[in-house]
Amino acid sequence: MVQNFNVFDIEYKENLNAKELTTMKADANIKIVYYPKNEEELIGIYNYLTINNINFIVIGNGSNIIFTEKARDVTVICTKKVCSKITLKNNILTANCSTMLSIAYNFTKNSGLSGFEKLAGIPGNLGGAIIMNASAFGSSIFDYLISVKIFKNGKIKNIKKEKINLNYRDSGLKNCLLLSAKFILPKKDKSEIEKDFYKYLYLRQEKQPKELSSGSIFKNPPLVSAGKLIEECGLKGLQIGDAKISEKHGNFIINLGNANINDILELIFIIKTKVYKKFNIKLEEEVRLV
Ligand SMILES: Cc1cc2nc3c(=O)[nH]c(=O)nc-3n(C[C@H](O)[C@H](O)[C@H](O)COP(=O)(O)OP(=O)(O)OC[C@H]3O[C@@H](n4cnc5c(N)ncnc54)[C@H](O)[C@@H]3O)c2cc1C
Repeated sequence: MVQNFNVFDIEYKENLNAKELTTMKADANIKIVYYPKNEEELIGIYNYLTINNINFIVIGNGSNIIFTEKARDVTVICTKKVCSKITLKNNILTANCSTMLSIAYNFTKNSGLSGFEKLAGIPGNLGGAIIMNASAFGSSIFDYLISVKIFKNGKIKNIKKEKINLNYRDSGLKNCLLLSAKFILPKKDKSEIEKDFYKYLYLRQEKQPKELSSGSIFKNPPLVSAGKLIEECGLKGLQIGDAKISEKHGNFIINLGNANINDILELIFIIKTKVYKKFNIKLEEEVRLV
């Protein structure tokens, strides 16, 4: 079902700074980024890069990605400019990958449908959230999901939730392009949904720094929070250049303005080394280093 069209018509930028593509806004050079504007272009460029064996990555809002020096050889497909498509039929929501979680929340809340209020403060889009199995306050993006539509091996496929192998911060959906998803949402009073949204947004703001970041750098090891381990190593506030381990939350590295990728990587290395020495626990990155 791949359309016959010219990939060279798709908007692109060459030799750009990764600042444009991630919420961390750290300096790094990117070879080329494509900005498809609809599903047809998205599939077209994905298929073109795949069959030509070009090293590439698909990104959404870049809130879980840090580009390193290796990114200068990577081609990026950014879904931010794919026109957001979101429809509601009774309590069934269908939305495409570029739909921001905050938009999904607003859209469904207005129809008295619950499901996105705990996730709405996560600055990602549906594609990134599903691939990452995003969750917050005990609610996961998969809670009300029915199925996803993906493009893989040259074909569009619909996969039911039951067939997806979910793990912590891992949907198991590998080597595929996430196109859209379907959810079945429970009815709830609109004012209750709003009340919950603000409650969880406030809790988030209390715990998390407001500066530029990629969210949690590390996954929580079983039964313990990575932030707590980092705090107990006395690392909160450690700063290299403009990269700093947040005083508010040990698992956040923040960019004070001009953080450079090597400073961030050095902080990551220090954290991993100290936590291992003190607790014999190997922290694993949640954030994707490209
Ligand atoms: C301040 C802050 C708070 C955060 N809080 C939370 C939280 O509470 N809970 C949580 O789970 N996360 C949190 N995050 C992390 C992040 O926001 C989530 O993981 C989010 O869902 C990622 O979405 P994104 O669109 O930014 O994805 P990106 O970072 O762009 O991509 C994430 C991954 O998905 C892949 N991907 C993206 N789109 C597609 C697609 N269409 N097809 C195939 N692959 C794709 C990318 O290759 C990458 O591997 C937070 C981040 C920040 C900055």
